[in-house]
Amino acid sequence: MEQGKCPKCEKDLEYAGGFELEGEQLGYSAFCECGWRGKEWYSLTFIDFTTDDSESKIADLSLTYLSEDVCILCQGNFTVGVDGNELGFCSTCQNKPDFPYDLDAYYIAFANDKTTFKGFDTMSRGLLEPFRK
Ligand SMILES: [Zn+2]
Ligand SMILES: [Zn+2]
Repeated sequence: MEQGKCPKCEKDLEYAGGFELEGEQLGYSAFCECGWRGKEWYSLTFIDFTTDDSESKIADLSLTYLSEDVCILCQGNFTVGVDGNELGFCSTCQNKPDFPYDLDAYYIAFANDKTTFKGFDTMSRGLLEPFRK
């Protein structure tokens, strides 16, 4: 079974926008044109504390897929939550001055419910486009 694909027919899932938190697991409500409805579950892993300043109120719940992935930009391998993030970028790319997205702005929007999905599919769904620098 693959993340983002219907477990019944393997087509791309649609997300209803809601989610359910159960312990350290988070389930996104999802559905498919074949009629399947359900939740796609992810693990929440504690990584670190950050202190909010007056300008940022980022809820720092970090979502990870606990896996290795390939960076969208450089195609290099990275481990989510270690040297890359759940949006699909490795730390090296993210720290480059010409990194194309303002991720801080994205996380603030996410924390304020202005964008519903956070994960590898955020990129392919175009949800990062409004945050292009
Ligand atoms: Zn389906
Ligand atoms: Zn990279």
